[in-house]
Amino acid sequence: MQNIIERFIGYVTIDTESDPNSETTPSTKKQWDLANKLVDELKEIGLSDVTIDNNAYIMATLPSNVDHKVPTIGFISHFDTSPDFTGANVKPQIVKDYDGKDIVLNADENIVLSPDYFEDLLMYKGQTLITTDGTTLLGADDKAGITEIVTAMEYLINHPEIKHGTIRIGFTPDEEIGRGAHKFDVKKFDADWAYTMDGSQVGELEYENFNAAGAKITVKGKIVHPGYAKGKMVNSMYYASEFINVLPRLETPEHTEGYEGFFHLHNIEGVVDETVLQYIIRDHDKDKFEARKALMQKIVEDLNTKYESEVFKLELKDQYFNMKEKVEPVMHIVDIAEEAMKAVGITPLIKAIRGGTDGSQLSYMGLPCPNIFAGGHNFHGRYEYVPVESMQKAVEVICKIAELTAEKK
Ligand SMILES: [Zn+2]
Repeated sequence: MQNIIERFIGYVTIDTESDPNSETTPSTKKQWDLANKLVDELKEIGLSDVTIDNNAYIMATLPSNVDHKVPTIGFISHFDTSPDFTGANVKPQIVKDYDGKDIVLNADENIVLSPDYFEDLLMYKGQTLITTDGTTLLGADDKAGITEIVTAMEYLINHPEIKHGTIRIGFTPDEEIGRGAHKFDVKKFDADWAYTMDGSQVGELEYENFNAAGAKITVKGKIVHPGYAKGKMVNSMYYASEFINVLPRLETPEHTEGYEGFFHLHNIEGVVDETVLQYIIRDHDKDKFEARKALMQKIVEDLNTKYESEVFKLELKDQYFNMKEKVEPVMHIVDIAEEAMKAVGITPLIKAIRGGTDGSQLSYMGLPCPNIFAGGHNFHGRYEYVPVESMQKAVEVICKIAELTAEKK
């Protein structure tokens, strides 16, 4: 436990916030600070082939300790933190033997982490929680995952009586800005399958995610002096609001859950002359996903017909796809993870992700890659926390998956 706490704190106190407006990889120079430290640490604990490339992707190997042939499996996490909230000067606080009551994160600013609002806290009564001081995010997303993988590798090295095949580990920058998998060298990684350790609550196991696209609607208007505008001015903002209102009003993130897809309007920028609407489109089901894109297309065509000119222009761009399609043909990789969780006393929570993961992209790049819990809650903000016991459980799951993979012949 102490080992995990110290390791985790060592990582989260290094600022690795990524930046969506940067073109470089990693998107921020400071990500190298932790990346270089991780390389040293991986060598120190005794992993082989420790490499870091020009984009700060880290890979390493734990060689097999059995004679028979075993599939090579991988474990992957990202070391950047979300640009949604500052990750500089993280001051982790340790709450031992959590009593189930409010946790004052910051007395000066009256910031309280309360189970009245965050009911999940009550699952961890009696456990050790690591929280923020209320002014930053924590970075358990995904430094909890890194901590767990490193700790598990160290454990396997120190316990050669646990039999396993070749294990590859991969740490990436820039996951939070959607680029964690982009420059991941799947060929060099050379694993039969892998798991991202990047989920939340203990037991989470995910192999379904959204199909995702972005849609940009540009609405053209005509600006004329308002005093002389009759019959001449075309106010693009009114046209844009017409488009917004034609889309199904209840198929939005705030009205959907589970397998329900949505249209999400996340940005409007408008003046009379031009308005731009930015949407994301999400659906687990491939056909429904295509139907959503087609609906937008049709609305644009209908409105252009109605106004007898090309007022509306739609640009659609696919972003990522549901990994289910790539994982289902190799379902044993999910079964092994499920079996491993049960073997260490965890009830698996298999559910569809309402988002994407690096694993979904990797799955389409040829590396089937379900997602496993890393233990943290309330990611990307000041209320983020992680129970140390959950990280410990994740370490056990990693070791058990390695062991079970070597047992199957
Ligand atoms: Zn993450």
